[in-house]
Amino acid sequence: MKTTEAAVQKAYETVRKSAPSGEVATYIPELARINPDLLAISVIDLQGNQCSYGDAETQFTLQSVSKAFSLALVLQENAAAVFDTVGFEPTGNPFFSMLPMESEHGKPRNPFVNSGAIAVSSMIPGGNAKSSYANFLGFLEQICEEKPVMDVDTHRSESETGYRNRAMANFLKQYGWIEDVDTAVETYFMQCSTLTNVRQLARMGLFLANRGIDPLTQKRIVDEESCRAIVTLMTTCGTYDYAGRVAIEIGLPCKSGVSGGILAIVPGKMSIAAFAPRLGTHGNSEAGMELLKLISEELSLSLFQ
Ligand code: GLU
Repeated sequence: MKTTEAAVQKAYETVRKSAPSGEVATYIPELARINPDLLAISVIDLQGNQCSYGDAETQFTLQSVSKAFSLALVLQENAAAVFDTVGFEPTGNPFFSMLPMESEHGKPRNPFVNSGAIAVSSMIPGGNAKSSYANFLGFLEQICEEKPVMDVDTHRSESETGYRNRAMANFLKQYGWIEDVDTAVETYFMQCSTLTNVRQLARMGLFLANRGIDPLTQKRIVDEESCRAIVTLMTTCGTYDYAGRVAIEIGLPCKSGVSGGILAIVPGKMSIAAFAPRLGTHGNSEAGMELLKLISEELSLSLFQ
């Protein structure tokens, strides 16, 4: 862990000193209120050694990072049904786009664009948004041994302004991919509004670095095949229409969110969470990406070298 810790600290110091770039997301009004210059990183290895730098206890909402966990939850329930409903392919379009769906019978291309994630949320057992979200929180509690909560203001903000996500849910319903529009979309808004911090988020991702088994509790969270599907989709579709660049520059499965959080998995080794609210043009945290790039380079973590 010493070498890792030194690399993480060095990356943190470098990025902290660099000029900030990017803008915080404002299309969800509540997200615009965050301090744009927060910066945090946390790394945990399969033995449970963890090191964190910066604002590691500062909370932010999971946003799209939640899509990796809702996918894990539903794959554990019924993997075949999931991939009958959402595909495996990158879209090359922004996460909020409805483009490929329109010519493909409303079927979302993958579980990480919003349409696919809404379809996945609709498969979380529960029958209504409140119960489905309670199951989602229960799943998170299982993987991080803490009980996360929802930020009610962000949820209200998303729910009041999420016209496009509602449009997608209606589109999915029109084609029969989901049963109930409100359940799907509200469950989705709630999961996106779940609060976390980098220390906890890195811990949440650990099972994905260990073929689906939480190495600290020895509990199987998802089967090996599902774990492989999740980390592969994180690599190809986890950072919006920027995933190719991320694969080249960082070379790790990552899932990012518009609040500035990113989860990166180093299979067989560790889980990394970064947070910095300023986003680049494709919706990924600028400083978060830079941290991951420096750490990946320093420790030779890329899966593609
Ligand atoms: N709740 C956000 C939305 O639906 C999540 C987007 C993201 O983090 O990519 O727009």
